Amino acid sequence: MRTRVRPYLADTGYVYAEQPGAIAARYGFDRVARLASNENPFGPSPAALEAARAALVEAHRYPDASMTALRAALAAAHGDRPAVVGNGMDGVIETVLRVFCEAGDRVAVSTPTFSFYGLAARAQGAVVSNVPRRDDFGVDAGEFSDTCRGARVAFLCTPNNPTGTGTSVEDVRAIAESIGDCLLFLDNAYVEFSDRDYLPLLDDCENLVIGRTFSKIYGLAGLRVGYALLPEWLLPAYCRAATPFSGLSSVSAAAAVAALGDSAHVERTRAHVLEWRARLEAGSPLPCAPSEANFLMVDVAPLGSDKAVTALARAGVLARSCRSFPDLADHYLRVSVGADWENERLLSALRALLSA
Ligand SMILES: *Cc1c(COP(=O)(O)O)cnc(C)c1O
Repeated sequence: MRTRVRPYLADTGYVYAEQPGAIAARYGFDRVARLASNENPFGPSPAALEAARAALVEAHRYPDASMTALRAALAAAHGDRPAVVGNGMDGVIETVLRVFCEAGDRVAVSTPTFSFYGLAARAQGAVVSNVPRRDDFGVDAGEFSDTCRGARVAFLCTPNNPTGTGTSVEDVRAIAESIGDCLLFLDNAYVEFSDRDYLPLLDDCENLVIGRTFSKIYGLAGLRVGYALLPEWLLPAYCRAATPFSGLSSVSAAAAVAALGDSAHVERTRAHVLEWRARLEAGSPLPCAPSEANFLMVDVAPLGSDKAVTALARAGVLARSCRSFPDLADHYLRVSVGADWENERLLSALRALLSA
């Protein structure tokens, strides 16, 4: 039987951050600065928690099959554009790949980036073409488009994880317009922390899907709610390909609707992140790539990524090694903007790293 397990599963799979509890126990901290997963340090919106509690009472009922309330709230919040939801943006990505990819089809990915695009594409039997970014982590739009032509789906993340790099709206438009029948999946998990607005592209580009999530600025990572804004023609196929109930629980959906309505919580988070992102960038003794997201990628050379992450863990800071990101040199780590005390601890840990 074992030999029947599909060969693509011999690779590592998704790499998770280490558990904060393990680090706290190992190095003797009461609390660990959790800066490895780009979560919201303020937690969920109180309105979202209240809505989730209320929805629990109906937990014996199946959710609304088409997630009407959440999709309507999302459409309204995004200029009346059609929206679909999924079990995290990860779930949305899987569904989009199910719509377009047969075994042997090609998927293009702009790297270094979020690893799940490649993993999900291979799970679908697709062949992945990685297109490395330039040395400054910007996308070479011409080179990327060349690789996208003939592929079924292309993944571009902006602001990009783990580099923080933003791609201009003009470059995204140029890519979408020059790749023919290839679908461009634009991952906007961190777009709320940038000043760019890619939504108007949806009015002109019939091959564009914009993925978003409630895991980052909305502070609902544990509830697993993602969504996408997409062209009208794609709706029926997406809904047929999706896991029943879009893979969402009724509790998650209710919380997401309420979170979307709490703009004060979102604004407070954004202001905190923008202020601290600048302070961390200025205060870091090590170079950081310019970031438009709620994290910074720090160059720890001559240290290697894993060594630096271990040194930070000893100082009570949980950071993300970037070793597992394809097409990235092995001397970077990624740290989220956290709560005040977490950021202060990070800065002293980085200073100690240099003098160690
Ligand atoms: C966090 C993240 C996501 C989505 O996460 P979900 O929790 O599955 O919604 C998607 N893309 C990138 C680049 C991310 O960093």
